[in-house]
Amino acid sequence: MNIDTQAFPSSPAELAIDLAVAAAAPADTPTPPRCEHHYPNGSRCRLRPTQLGLCSRHFLETRLNKAAATPLSHTIDDSTDLSPELLPELSESSSAIDISQFLARLLVQLTKGRVSPRRAWVLNCIGSQLLNGHRRGARRM
Ligand SMILES: [Zn+2]
Repeated sequence: MNIDTQAFPSSPAELAIDLAVAAAAPADTPTPPRCEHHYPNGSRCRLRPTQLGLCSRHFLETRLNKAAATPLSHTIDDSTDLSPELLPELSESSSAIDISQFLARLLVQLTKGRVSPRRAWVLNCIGSQLLNGHRRGARRM
């Protein structure tokens, strides 16, 4: 076993000097890590970082800002005629089953990225209203 004799004080006087130096030195307490976000007034966020040097709030904020600034890979034309895909056999006297099929086809088109979420939401609302109308009509009979 190799012991480094330089690391230990050899006399009580050296030990006293070492202790005095250690007491005089500022405490070497590491500052806890802080979020790297700076506010517009120049102050720094005081929360602990969780990801990439940012606290969870500022990490999420950064991600959302990046996503909002990123243009969509392709734009969806909401005026495209989708009746061949969505309404192949739907007629004015459609049954509730047809509307369920319409909603299922709408889901497929939305999943494939051919319908914007906004248009899909509107079409879903219309389909749901028609479906509810058919149900109410069926209960009256
Ligand atoms: Zn923060």
